[in-house]
Amino acid sequence: MSKDKDCFYCNKNEKLDEIMIEVCPLEVSTLYLFKDQTHKGRCIVAYKDHVKELFDLDDKELALFTKDVARAAKAVSKAFGADKVNYGAYADTLHHLHFHIVPKHKGEVEWGGTFAMNRENPVTLSVAEYKEVIEAIKKNFK
Ligand SMILES: [Zn+2]
Repeated sequence: MSKDKDCFYCNKNEKLDEIMIEVCPLEVSTLYLFKDQTHKGRCIVAYKDHVKELFDLDDKELALFTKDVARAAKAVSKAFGADKVNYGAYADTLHHLHFHIVPKHKGEVEWGGTFAMNRENPVTLSVAEYKEVIEAIKKNFK
């Protein structure tokens, strides 16, 4: 399937490393931890190929990708006790199918509203803390 030479999801280059850390491969996608951890456990599920829209996938791939998103959301939710998981798929300028998985907590930041894509004051962690979050997510996959 297709890759795009200018896309950081396709190339897994330093631009990708700036904003996320690979957690693990899923069935038809890759799970990444978003470096801004304002919402602890926030992740991205990126489809394996350079595909723009959900409707560009055939039924089988769509089912597999949806399952990856659901499994990731469940693991994140279990790991951090989310009251609700938010899902975001925007990518106006970067046409590589991916979902933001954002655990939300009642009464806390952005509860009842839309999560900010890129915050002015991101919450970043130490290498050890990122590792802890990643391990907590991985432990909650079944
Ligand atoms: Zn791509």
